[in-house]
Amino acid sequence: NANQNRIIELIRDVPDWPKPGVVFKDITPLLADADGFAAAIDELADLAPGPIDVVVGMEARGFIFAAPVALKLGAGFVPVRKPGKLPGKVDQQSFALEYGNETLAIHSDALWQGARVMVIDDVLATGGTIGATAELIKRQGAELVHVAVLMELGFLGGRERLARAGVDTLSAVV
Ligand code: IMP
Repeated sequence: NANQNRIIELIRDVPDWPKPGVVFKDITPLLADADGFAAAIDELADLAPGPIDVVVGMEARGFIFAAPVALKLGAGFVPVRKPGKLPGKVDQQSFALEYGNETLAIHSDALWQGARVMVIDDVLATGGTIGATAELIKRQGAELVHVAVLMELGFLGGRERLARAGVDTLSAVV
């Protein structure tokens, strides 16, 4: 659709960043374009399959999209952050990166049994980030209703990895 075309045009490929052989999807031109940014938020919010209590977004680029989508859906916003950033008691989940490990944290009292949660991030790459976030959400007894990302890098197999991790509802704007 017209929104998708606008969004695609505003995402810039940066070759060999952050390292040789990687083509980084740079969303900053999209964010800087008022109509493009609004289109991205509209399209992401449209992917909600029903009422949502809480939108969960991951540090740092995920915050940019998740918070406006939460407002649009009439939902709350809960941040998932790197360790050492949240002031309260946290639940943590580690996952493997190409080199080394990453850990994500959520406040232990952020969600509740049966809360209807939607996860929003900018880019789905290998699926590690979303997989760990899904685990944190389920551990609090909440229901992961949907995962929506702006862009899916299909060749990295993130969708398959998430399906194996029990994430069965996922969609991408582009
Ligand atoms: P994953 O955990 O491998 O799926 O990586 C996804 C995370 O890395 C997301 O939170 C993205 O913000 C970030 N990411 C990975 N590749 C890109 C990219 O090409 N552009 C922007 N962000 C990226």
